[in-house]
Amino acid sequence: MGERVIFVIFGASGDLTKRKLVPAIFSLTCEGFLPPEDIAIVGFARTDLDNDSFRRELFKGVENYSRISTAQCRLWPNISERIVYHRGDYGDIKAYEELKNLLNSIEEKLDIPGGRYIFYLATPPDLYSTVIEHLGSSGLTRKMGSFPRIVIEKPFGYNLKSAIELNNILHKYFREEQIYRIDHYLGKDTVQDLLVFRFGNAIFEPVWNRNYVDNIQMTVAESEGIGTRAGYYEKAGVLKDMFQNHLLQLLTLVTMEPPIDFSEKSIRDEKVKILRAIRSIEPSQSYNYTVRGQYAGYREERGVSPHSNTATFGVLKLYIDNWRWQGVPFYLRSGKRMKEKMTYIAVRFKDVPHIMFPYKFRDQISSNILYLWIQPNEGIRLQFNVKRPGMEMNISPVIMDFTYSDVFEYKVLPDAYERLILDIINGDPTLFTRNDEIELAWRFIDPIVEGWEGKESPPLAFYEGGSLGPKESDDFILRDGRNWL
Ligand code: NDP
Repeated sequence: MGERVIFVIFGASGDLTKRKLVPAIFSLTCEGFLPPEDIAIVGFARTDLDNDSFRRELFKGVENYSRISTAQCRLWPNISERIVYHRGDYGDIKAYEELKNLLNSIEEKLDIPGGRYIFYLATPPDLYSTVIEHLGSSGLTRKMGSFPRIVIEKPFGYNLKSAIELNNILHKYFREEQIYRIDHYLGKDTVQDLLVFRFGNAIFEPVWNRNYVDNIQMTVAESEGIGTRAGYYEKAGVLKDMFQNHLLQLLTLVTMEPPIDFSEKSIRDEKVKILRAIRSIEPSQSYNYTVRGQYAGYREERGVSPHSNTATFGVLKLYIDNWRWQGVPFYLRSGKRMKEKMTYIAVRFKDVPHIMFPYKFRDQISSNILYLWIQPNEGIRLQFNVKRPGMEMNISPVIMDFTYSDVFEYKVLPDAYERLILDIINGDPTLFTRNDEIELAWRFIDPIVEGWEGKESPPLAFYEGGSLGPKESDDFILRDGRNWL
């Protein structure tokens, strides 16, 4: 005992709680990382539910979405009996006073030390400040060691101004080390492996710079459209939905300098240096540095304006102005309704300085490319040239392939939320975004958003669902004499 916590979810009747949070807690419990007696869960929402109906709803989510099946692991009843539903209005101070009493009674009943609360904000983002202010004014944020902790879901603000406002409200009641801003990409094993790959191997780091790298491409593609999230997506679009957070976070991990140790401060300090070094793109430059697309049929989606100019696809070329990366272009690409759901990073190395083979072999020599596959088919692939067997001299590119599922026993890698929830409970903020990271990311993205909304925006390019984006995306990179890898 001693590590026990009460996990309080605001917006507990929603999709995230049912599909991600509680299934992740279930899997953690089943694998022995989180004994059921170490956690109690309180769901806060307006929907008319009682403890039993709430638990039933959550069980459906566990059955459908948990990595570990309920047939394999029989611990659900042990978790379920520690789940309580608290019905209340987010803007009603009385509901928080009742919550406080409820938490006190749970502490007493389940022998949990006082004040060890984790407040998880899984409501629509416009409610975050209301909930934080009410937590503060009801006295629920009184500090007890490193508790309470507060978890904020994406999106963190809609622009720099709103992100600063939200940070200010948070800092009224919480110290930075109590705040966990989620970017669930950072919870993926393959994303954490970027650090091990780069800093746990000697052979890659010497070539990981402008002397050897021609360009780096990052793709986050989704096969699905916006589903039922038109309200959110119409306001966000691809830049705010994918670039400001996931893509820039991936970029920092791929490009940062080696941290001096594995502490959260060292790692996050290095990430911040990269965010500070990204060359800004002024609104008037968006035509030269970006592509903006929308999938055919987006305007007919439920909840979308028939004249919507929201981009569901984007390409962004950027530079990092530091010693290591000066002059190397980074091409970031993301979209919805693309060919398949996939996230990967491709590092294309410079060509050999001199081709010693006869002229006719010139075209047979390909660039070395390193593929870091984040999902699916998680793994690392390296392309290099070999001689084809036979009497004649012929050269072919081949791929050396490491795939997680072939080498390790996992069939399905742990869900990002499992790792993140465990880190929150253990008080390790390394995989969460610090306030300065968030603000620097918005500082970079805001002018591009402004550019896309202004007269000098690149025209909206339409693309068919199931494709790799509009033709303009290929033309864009071709203008630099390159192609998508
Ligand atoms: P939901 O739309 O399912 O909302 C969660 C709950 O918020 C609802 O059940 C509802 O509960 C409450 N709520 C309060 N006001 C409103 C309102 N005006 N409209 C809709 N619901 C309201 O959201 P998700 O669970 O999908 O997401 C929660 C948060 O997590 C959001 O900020 C989202 O951006 C973020 N997120 C979600 C992901 C996901 O996979 N679902 C992934 C990444 C981030 P009640 O009415 O009972 O109070």
